[in-house]
Amino acid sequence: MRYFVKTPWLLKKIFSSFCWSVDTREKILYLTFDDGPHPTVTSFVLDELKKHNANATFFCIGKNVITYPEIYKRILDEGHIVGNHTHNHLNGWKNKSRVYLSDVNKASGYIDSSLFRPPYGKIKISQSRKLPSAMKKTNTKIVMWDVLSGDFDLGISPQHCADNVLRYARPGSIIVFHDSSKAYPRIKHALPETLKFFGEKGYHFHSLQALVK
Ligand SMILES: [Zn+2]
Repeated sequence: MRYFVKTPWLLKKIFSSFCWSVDTREKILYLTFDDGPHPTVTSFVLDELKKHNANATFFCIGKNVITYPEIYKRILDEGHIVGNHTHNHLNGWKNKSRVYLSDVNKASGYIDSSLFRPPYGKIKISQSRKLPSAMKKTNTKIVMWDVLSGDFDLGISPQHCADNVLRYARPGSIIVFHDSSKAYPRIKHALPETLKFFGEKGYHFHSLQALVK
């Protein structure tokens, strides 16, 4: 499996209208969790975050919100924020804009947010321009990432996954994990490691609330 753990600066520069990290020198990290809500994994994540007084951002899939409304409610009740990650986890590059945007629109009926993360990080520029109308928000923001934990990668060990984050996260980094059953064996180890390691270094974990204007 090939992917960048640390997003290359050139990619950030080319797609500079997307949000890749937060510009700060303060010891703040932005944990994000994609593909939930999931009954076991999201509950685990929420318990871990609570232990460390951490806040985070959950990019939810609309159909999962329909299936697990109580877990979705728990995310919001515990002070975290949510973003739209489409209704059926569509790949923007492989779907016609009409189909893609209608899927985003469907998700927006269940997820009230101006933040959007494209599944697989893949969205056409033409699709990105039409997000505000699909999401019925004027102030939509596309949130990408600075560090990919690789928790979805069945070929890496839980410790390797943790090391990806410990090695590359910096003040202001937006970090990606997945609250999915596929990622569970790795996130189960890597998330507590991340919270402990950076917590001991004096870092705080915030949601991306500042991007919501
Ligand atoms: Zn996803």
